[in-house]
Amino acid sequence: MTKGHPMPDSQKIYLSDYTPPAYLVESVHLTFKLSPNATRVISKIRFVPNPDSASRDFFLHGEHLTLIRAAIDGQECSPAVTDKGLTAQVPDAPFTWEAEVEINPQDNTALEGLYMSNGMYCTQCEAEGFRRITYYPDRPDVMATFTVRIEGDLPVLLSNGNPTDSGDGWAEWHDPWPKPSYLFALVAGDLRNHPDSFTTKSGRKVDLNIWVRPGDIDKCAFGMEALKKSMKWDEDVYGREYDLDLFNIVAVDDFNMGAMENKGLNIFNSSCVLASPETATDANFERIEAIIAHEYFHNWTGNRITCRDWFQLCLKEGLTVYRDSQFTSDVRSRAVKRISDVDGLRAVQFREDNGPLAHPVRPDSFVEINNFYTATVYEKGAEVVGMLKRLVGDDAYRRALDLYFKRHDGQAVTIEDWLKVFEDTTGRDLGQFMRWYSQAGTPRLTVADDFKDGTYTLHFKQHTPPTPGQDVKQPQVIPIAVGLLNPNGDEVQETVVLEMTKPEQSFEFKGLSSRPVPSILREFSAPVILEQDVDNKTRAFLMAHDSDPFNRRESGNALARDVLRRMITDGAAPDPLYLEAKAKILTDKALDPAFRALVLSQPTQEELAQMLFDAGHTPDPDAIFKATQTLVQASAERLHQDLPRIYAAHQVKGPYSPDAGPAGHRVLANSALWLLSRLDDCKQAQAQYDAADNMTQQISALGCLQYFGHGTDATQAFYDQWRHDRLVIDKWFAMQVSNTRPDQTVATAQALTEHADFDMKNPNRFRAVFGALAWHHAGFHRADGAGYRLLADWLIKLDPVNPQTTARMITAFQSWRRYDEERQALMRAELERIRDTPDLSGDTAEMVGRILEG
Ligand SMILES: [Zn+2]
Repeated sequence: MTKGHPMPDSQKIYLSDYTPPAYLVESVHLTFKLSPNATRVISKIRFVPNPDSASRDFFLHGEHLTLIRAAIDGQECSPAVTDKGLTAQVPDAPFTWEAEVEINPQDNTALEGLYMSNGMYCTQCEAEGFRRITYYPDRPDVMATFTVRIEGDLPVLLSNGNPTDSGDGWAEWHDPWPKPSYLFALVAGDLRNHPDSFTTKSGRKVDLNIWVRPGDIDKCAFGMEALKKSMKWDEDVYGREYDLDLFNIVAVDDFNMGAMENKGLNIFNSSCVLASPETATDANFERIEAIIAHEYFHNWTGNRITCRDWFQLCLKEGLTVYRDSQFTSDVRSRAVKRISDVDGLRAVQFREDNGPLAHPVRPDSFVEINNFYTATVYEKGAEVVGMLKRLVGDDAYRRALDLYFKRHDGQAVTIEDWLKVFEDTTGRDLGQFMRWYSQAGTPRLTVADDFKDGTYTLHFKQHTPPTPGQDVKQPQVIPIAVGLLNPNGDEVQETVVLEMTKPEQSFEFKGLSSRPVPSILREFSAPVILEQDVDNKTRAFLMAHDSDPFNRRESGNALARDVLRRMITDGAAPDPLYLEAKAKILTDKALDPAFRALVLSQPTQEELAQMLFDAGHTPDPDAIFKATQTLVQASAERLHQDLPRIYAAHQVKGPYSPDAGPAGHRVLANSALWLLSRLDDCKQAQAQYDAADNMTQQISALGCLQYFGHGTDATQAFYDQWRHDRLVIDKWFAMQVSNTRPDQTVATAQALTEHADFDMKNPNRFRAVFGALAWHHAGFHRADGAGYRLLADWLIKLDPVNPQTTARMITAFQSWRRYDEERQALMRAELERIRDTPDLSGDTAEMVGRILEG
């Protein structure tokens, strides 16, 4: 372990230090006099002493504010102001606080609080942005009703809730539902709306709008349909009805996150809402549908019931990610959704959980809450909700959720409250289950089996490796979904959920006529690493016969990992067993095309690096790259007769539709095109590029052309065609980096930063270039350290402009200890260079410290 500059513990905030607020807020009146460099915010807030608090210390958060005046019950006062907030002498009785502050939205490049994006005003307050708007108890357990007046010379002036009055240059809004300040929102701009409406199950008509810049009005229809589908789904599946007369969505170009669930006024990164067939891919459409659903579902899980403090972030995020994944499973393919979710979990969350940034789903301390919007809180948090549902059953889950909404509506609550509704509904003790929220790290589950006198026994052991700050782990409750197949491939035991609670536990299956083949952890029933000693013949058997689509693909993936491991470490040749099994699935017309495309995909280089590391090897990025290329080439050659046929058979005729059916055909055809391009010198790819009338077809073909060195003309033509569309140009930036050979990745990224359209202040553009660099495993981990150096240079430049995005992107270095000594030294040098930068932001300082020390 290397000791750098350890984070002083005093900066840390601990869950165990929670105390209730000294004062509660009854109502908030805000007036905004908008001006790019000098917006005035006048607040009038009714405070009452909190009967549940012994303290009468009055503190309001406030950062980057200029206080013009303040008054208590109409009397001017002079509070003590620091760069974190203010304190003042106040009555031990209800009182009215008034303040006027000045802020500068134009220069707010951090994109927290009120800022400007292309001439429009917008806000981002989660987690702690509201304190950059005015002085306020900016914590989620202070809930209040807001009344807002906006004055400004822009045609559209929006805030939360319902509009109450408006005139020339002003508008007033009232939100009747008490909310924490992180859900406050304001938008002002020259915007156009795509209107629609939805009638709720009790017959109330809700007006719906998507607000965009004038040129984007033709890209709203899909998002609107997704919104209406989400509203209906939440009524049908969770019994949740929308509760205002109006629901607004606004698209913003400069945005740190994907989207934000502000009450009645969702604000979206434009990449997560705008879509047309010409400019968005099938994957974009699916993601937009899921994000619109996610933010909408927050209206109940997050807004009506919110978090007591930010340690409980998973309470709203884990549950809402789980809900949006259920939604996508229902409206698209359940199997494909589950496989994609687990691929994402393993690529991002497992990496986090097995490195220096590992933390529990509910962390117990933090320096900057911005740094905990992580895959662990979101995706592992959703897995935990899924396990809970698996353990208690579907009916009890629904009853527990009904009780949750009934008992806690209008409250700011904790994970303990959440689990209590399940205990009260089912009578179960969830004390041990709570460890999923408090223990970091990915449990390892090992399994052995025996068969005697018709009884088959599975012996499981569980173990979770130490993580930073948590050396000793307790056994978890692990739901293990298991099915058994006989040697003919028929299922002799349908899926049962075994409940493992001890460090070692055995489960028996009686009355079997022959030794079965087990299919373990079906549908990925728990977020664990399954260590199973299975030979590749059995994997190929399960790949062909397992009735659980997740495990069918998983067996193929495990087989591919093992084949690649032997290629990387022993110089083995591609195993024909794998190539045959893959060919069988690819040509099986009974299977869903999207599922076949997933089987066709190989494990990522990142996944292979982690696998090798876990097995005691030092991963060599160049050798990993070479092996994956050799295997994909061997696949292409083995399939050379099938590929043109499959490509042709899955061309979609007629007008474009982003639905799962046609999208599945396109993804399979484009997977075939990717292999075919290795054999036909990109002839088919060029033809597809020339004929493409939608972005999915155009960009798939362009990717092949670029990767195989035929892309110079097409890349320029693509730019000329789309230079007016910033979201398409983001793709153009990203794919040039993604589709390079490893020795060209850094030079390509470097050259793109000199392009006239590169703008580091726009998070989407910055991520397009540097996200693509960080995810290009062999390119980023170039042996001479040029990838590390380029990324560090730009993170140092970005930090004073946008600390949140910098801190998030520094996670590219989190696996630095996995590699050889030379690469480790190069990465450590870059991390130390970032750490030693003068005036480094708190966000970035915390992350670099944790990565270096963990
Ligand atoms: Zn969310």
